[in-house]
Amino acid sequence: MPMMHLPERLEAVSGLDLHMHSTASDGALTPGALVALCHSRGVTHMALTDHDTLAGVDEASTAAEQFGIRLLPAAELSAQWRGLTIHVVALLPTGPSVEMDDALAAQAEARVARSKEIARRLEAIGLENALTRAREQAGSERPLGRPDFARALVEAGVVPDMATAFKKHLGAGKRGDVKAHWPYLSDVIDWTLQSNGVAVLAHPLRYGLTRRKRGLLLDSFAEAGGEAAELVSGFQNADVTRDLARQLDERGLYGSLGSDFHFPGGHLAPGSMSPVSRCDVLPVWRHPRLHDFAG
Ligand code: AMP
Ligand code: MN
Ligand code: MN
Ligand code: MN
Repeated sequence: MPMMHLPERLEAVSGLDLHMHSTASDGALTPGALVALCHSRGVTHMALTDHDTLAGVDEASTAAEQFGIRLLPAAELSAQWRGLTIHVVALLPTGPSVEMDDALAAQAEARVARSKEIARRLEAIGLENALTRAREQAGSERPLGRPDFARALVEAGVVPDMATAFKKHLGAGKRGDVKAHWPYLSDVIDWTLQSNGVAVLAHPLRYGLTRRKRGLLLDSFAEAGGEAAELVSGFQNADVTRDLARQLDERGLYGSLGSDFHFPGGHLAPGSMSPVSRCDVLPVWRHPRLHDFAG
C-alpha cells in the first residue's frame, strides 16, 4: 500500500514529484501516459508543470483519479528578472483564478510573438523557414519552445546535437534566448497568490548564478511573495544541496522536489532525483494551502 500521507520532513519522502512535463508543452508523453508512468514507478503525489499552460491538467487529473494518485494542477511560468529568464512553478491546489487564466492566455500570445522573433534570428544564421521547421518538430499545434528550434537546427544539420544547439544558439545569453516577452517575476508570483496557490522558484541552481547572485534572486522572490524553491531538481551534488538548503532556511522558504522529467529514455524518470540529507527546510507540502494534497 503506497504512502498516501506525506511525511513531515523533506528527507523522509518518497513517491513524490512536483515538476514534470507532458505534450501540453515540451514533454514527450501525453498527460495520461505520464500519469501511467508515474503510477508504474510508485509516484503517489505529483504535479504536472507544463510551460505556461494548464492545458494538460484535465486529462492528467482523470488519469490520476483512476490510479489513486494525488495530482496538483500546476504550471511552470516563464518570467524575467534582471535580464534573465526565470521559471516559477505555480502550485494551484484550487485551480487557476480568472487572473491566472488571463495571464496564461497572455503567456501563450507571448510565446507566439517570441517564436517569430526566435525564427527571425535563427534564419540569420542559416536555418531557412525556421518557424515551419520548429512547428514540424513540435508535431502539434501547442505553443512552441526553444527545444523545438533546437531540434530543427539538428535536423537541418546546422548543429550536431541538442546540447550544441543550446550551447551555441539558444541557451542563456545566445541569440535565440529571447526573453523580452516574459512578464516580471513579481507578476507571475501575484497571479499565483491570486489563485490561492504557492509560488515555487524552479531549479535555482540552473540559472548560471554565483551563490551571491542566487541569494539576491531568492531575496527578490521572497519579497514579491514567493514562498518556496526547489531544493532538488533532478540530479545534483549533495554538497550543493546542503548549501542551497542553508539559503532557503535563511529566508524561511519552503523546499520542493521535482525531476523536471520531459521524456523517457534519458537519465531522468518521474520520481527520480537526488536525495535530500537532513535539513531544517520545511517541505512545501506542509504549506497550509497544500494541506489537502499532503493527505
Ligand atoms: P522555453 O520554455 O521555450 O524557454 O524553452 C526552455 C526549455 O528548453 C527548458 O524547459 C528545457 O526543456 C529545454 N532546455 C533548456 N536548456 C537545454 C539544454 N541545454 N539542452 C536541452 N534542452 C534544454
Ligand atoms: Mn522544458
Ligand atoms: Mn524550467
Ligand atoms: Mn521544467
